[in-house]
Amino acid sequence: MSETVRPTPQPGILDIAPYMPGKSGKPGSNAIKLSANESPLGASPKAIAAFAAAAEKLEIYPEGTSRLLREALGEVHGVNPDSIVCGNGSDDLLHLLAQVYLGEGDEAVMNRYGFSVYPIITRATGAQIIMVDERDYCADVDALLAAVTPRTKVVWLANPNNPTGTYLNADEVARLHAGLRPDILLVIDSAYAEYVTAADYSVGLDLVGAHQNVVMVRTFSKMGLAAARIGWMVGPDHVVDAINRIRGPFNVNLPAQLAGAAATRDVAFTQALCDFNARWRDWLTAELHSNAMRVIPSQANFVMVLFDTPEIAAAAFKTLVEAGYIVREIGASYGIANGLRISIGPEAAMQGVAKVLKAFGGAQ
Ligand SMILES: *Cc1c(COP(=O)(O)O)cnc(C)c1O
Repeated sequence: MSETVRPTPQPGILDIAPYMPGKSGKPGSNAIKLSANESPLGASPKAIAAFAAAAEKLEIYPEGTSRLLREALGEVHGVNPDSIVCGNGSDDLLHLLAQVYLGEGDEAVMNRYGFSVYPIITRATGAQIIMVDERDYCADVDALLAAVTPRTKVVWLANPNNPTGTYLNADEVARLHAGLRPDILLVIDSAYAEYVTAADYSVGLDLVGAHQNVVMVRTFSKMGLAAARIGWMVGPDHVVDAINRIRGPFNVNLPAQLAGAAATRDVAFTQALCDFNARWRDWLTAELHSNAMRVIPSQANFVMVLFDTPEIAAAAFKTLVEAGYIVREIGASYGIANGLRISIGPEAAMQGVAKVLKAFGGAQ
């Protein structure tokens, strides 16, 4: 008997295109993955040891508030642990923020080339996402403010932004905040904060501390622990309270909590990763920038490279894949069809990518 009635998703769910992760090589291939902004230096050895030690306690539920992790974060970042909520990756927290503050009839504002998760989590609540034009691949504060309507409830801002690598300086973020009504939540997603070298950058904690409508979201994923799925956010008490009411009661698993705490305290490893990144980000930017390719200056652990046309970008992608380097196409998920996003990877990979792309550019 064929069933004609079946469960139906809420309105709008099936209009959402699924998130597209960066591609990996085929199993068994030794292709180098430069498509997901992962660490080129592995994870902190102390985090690995802590993760492994947790294998002895797998039958016990983890402490539900990630207390040890929040304490480590509080210590190293100078934040009250009570103002922190941890998540199963920062995606978990972003979803929860959307669920708490958005619903049918509401709007969330973001810059056009902002992180592709924001439209998904916004639409999942029944709210509308408003995409605002940028100025040369950088969020435009005036345009964001102009897009605010009485329906606006949330502004999503990745700073630095993925996939462009551009950032707003502290004054610009403060100006954005100052232009928002106090009932609009400004979510500052500082996923790449560790990698920023610009002196006029602020991670967002100053605004969080001074106002009732700002949260900062962070992740361990770009710092060597993508597989462990650990994110954290800092917000005012009323936001922390609301998120804690609906998050999964054990949303961060024990190995992740312990690995995250160890990684947080391993500031030498963090520094080594940042130093490595700054060096090779600058090097790759300088090597690739040419008549054939425009490299957008990045504050993150990747660079976005723009070609004259989408066809040339597709050909460059194919040439890189054939040479064993998998980078990120950003046409379908971000609408930048003439661009590729390249993660800062191991030294040999950076040398290899530069060589391949320079030869490719010369042949155009
Ligand atoms: C990678 C990324 C995240 C997601 O991180 P997870 O903690 O792995 O969920 C969030 N925001 C931005 C801007 C990112 O690039």
